[in-house]
Order: sequence, then structure tokens, then C-alpha cells
Amino acid sequence: MCDLWQNTLDETVPAGAISAQIDFALDQTERECCDLAKLQQIKLYNAGSFFDAQAIPEAEEAVISTRLAKFSRVIVESHPALIGDRCLRFRDRLNGQLEIALGLETVHPKALGKLNKRVSLGQFRDAAGFITRHDIALRTFVLLQPPFIPVDESVEWARRSIDFSQDCGATVTALIPTRTGNGAMDHLAAVGQFIEPTLVQLEDAMDYGVGQARGRVFADLWDLERFSSCTACFPQRRDRLAKQNDTQQIPARVTCPSCR
Ligand SMILES: [Zn+2]
Repeated sequence: MCDLWQNTLDETVPAGAISAQIDFALDQTERECCDLAKLQQIKLYNAGSFFDAQAIPEAEEAVISTRLAKFSRVIVESHPALIGDRCLRFRDRLNGQLEIALGLETVHPKALGKLNKRVSLGQFRDAAGFITRHDIALRTFVLLQPPFIPVDESVEWARRSIDFSQDCGATVTALIPTRTGNGAMDHLAAVGQFIEPTLVQLEDAMDYGVGQARGRVFADLWDLERFSSCTACFPQRRDRLAKQNDTQQIPARVTCPSCR
């Protein structure tokens, strides 16, 4: 559902490559962005699952964890099927809190099956339960308007998916408007089985999720402009969503004379 697969490799990287990447990223961050000493949280998202032995051999974790010693929170992503004892060993290596992100995508039963995630809602719930039982924080990804869900039902399914995520104990639910730009989505769009959601739908789903006040809900703002049909109000609406992410409040909706 994202374009990260474009960066996946056919073979496992050599020993030391991952910690070298982390060093590179931290160095770039300090040079171009901010004082590392002030940063407290780090996300390590690979183009797959952190706990996939083919992607990140467990033998690498000792050296990886030394790079993470200063952070109070470490966030990694994994497929639910790979949640197990390895997560606990990694948790125990960290000074900070471990948070694991799982892609829920949607609770729409047919759409979830067709998305080829190879995970059922029951398996997702079990993985989430394992995480939360073991003092690991849970973050989930929910897709707004993935393919195979009727457009006029997509906000309602996003709401139900946010509910399910929070029922599973997620402290963060990241709401991602589904976009074209990878092969599968482009094909479905070309044959009329997928269209991208609108900014209004994202606002509707966000207002619901934040309004539940059961855990933080974040709108993914990357490349947001593509979901807007009006240049007049877009900057204000983007800023409103950004503020919503930061404050977890529901500001008044933007009204626009150009697009109503
Ligand atoms: Zn407008």
C-alpha cells in the first residue's frame, strides 16, 4: 500500500550495514535539521518488517541498540505475523520505551483480504495483545479509502478501523489517505477500482478519531496537496490538520467561498 517496496533488496544486507545507515541518518539530521541532543524519539522504518530475520538479522540488534541508547522512545514497524519473543529481546536491549507499528489498513473484511496483507483481524488482535501485554506501545496504520471499499462508505470504514485500533490498545493511530504511485494502485485506478480520497473525507475521519479521545490519531500529511481540489483553501486546511496532529483537538472547520 505504500511505495517502500521500491527500496527492498533481494538479499540480506551485510553485517554492520544497518548501524552504518543509522549513523548516516543521525549525522545528516544533525547537519541539516536539528541538534541531536534535543531529540528524544526515533523511528526506524525499513522497507519491510524490523523483526524479519531476512531484513534485519537479530545478530545486528546488539550494535543497533547501542546507536539508540540516547532515545527515550524507539519506534519500529513490523508485520503482525512476526510479533513474538524477538520483540521482547529487542525491548530488553533498549534504554527507552519500545513502540511497534502494525499496519491494520482496514477492518473491512473483503477489502482487507483483497489487499493481500495475509493477516486476519483475529491475527492482528493477537499480535496487538502480545505487544500491549509486554509493556510495548502499539501504533497502527489505518488507510482512508483503500481499494475495494465503496467511496461513499470509506469514511465510515475508516472510523470503524480507528475504533478497532483503539480497542486493540493503540496509543497512536496514523490515518493515511490511500494514494496512487505504486504499481498495484495505479493499475486499480486505471481500471476504475480505486480513486484517491478527498481532503474533506480525511477531515471527517480525523475529526471522528480525535474526537474519540481514546488515543492519539494522526493524519499523514505527506504529499497532502494531491487530495485537495481547491488551491484557495488548501494552505489553511493543511495547517488545520497539522494543528490537529499536534494538539489532538478539533479546531473549527475551514470554510471556503471558492469550493464551499
Ligand atoms: Zn476551497
